Amino acid sequence: MRIGDVRRILLGTFIRPAEETGTGQPRVEAVYGYIVDHPRGVLLLDTGLGAGDAETEDWYRPRRIELADALGAAGMRLPDIDVVVNCHLHFDHCGGNPRLAGTPVVCQRNELATARRGGYTMEHLIDYPGSTYDLLDGEAELWPGIHVIPTPGHVEGHQSVVVECDDGSLVLAGQSHDAASHWSADALVVQATRLGHDAPLPAAPAWMERLLAFDPRRVVFAHDAAVWEPLA
Ligand SMILES: [Zn+2]
Repeated sequence: MRIGDVRRILLGTFIRPAEETGTGQPRVEAVYGYIVDHPRGVLLLDTGLGAGDAETEDWYRPRRIELADALGAAGMRLPDIDVVVNCHLHFDHCGGNPRLAGTPVVCQRNELATARRGGYTMEHLIDYPGSTYDLLDGEAELWPGIHVIPTPGHVEGHQSVVVECDDGSLVLAGQSHDAASHWSADALVVQATRLGHDAPLPAAPAWMERLLAFDPRRVVFAHDAAVWEPLA
């Protein structure tokens, strides 16, 4: 498998209101999923926007692309998916999970517990007929070369996926960072530390070191079309 074989699918868009962007302008955000066609099976990271309540719909004005249609654009069908990984369980990441009833969903144990406590996500996307979970407590190698790495920050139970390909590692960061430029800033903090810069330095999450240890050739995100690549 090569990095370019991992497919991105567009699952919809929503409009982040000006109140949340800090720029005075609303911002269009994409919702992406990623398909990894591995010798052991087909992995799907994130499944799109679920139906929200009226308040959420009015606030974010989402437009959805049905998971089956998004997969179809990549030459895949719902039954082709062997395992779902959700970077976290907010409604814009696990919305299509009920379409894949019976397919195991991989998430952190603390993330599912938080989601079930209420007030966190849309509960009908968490416990639905046929829902089944493979719960992780921290880092795991799901299949050879497929690593799930906890990347808390956006939420405590957030996780990212590293895919070791023949031509280098690909990080499916999810929403570890909202934008590729935010990842870039944190990667530079790690580099500055290695180069011996003294404090004060901006703080980067501790797990950046873990992800960068895979020497990623490309990093992709849940809500940003931009990708990060190191200078070769
Ligand atoms: Zn999100």
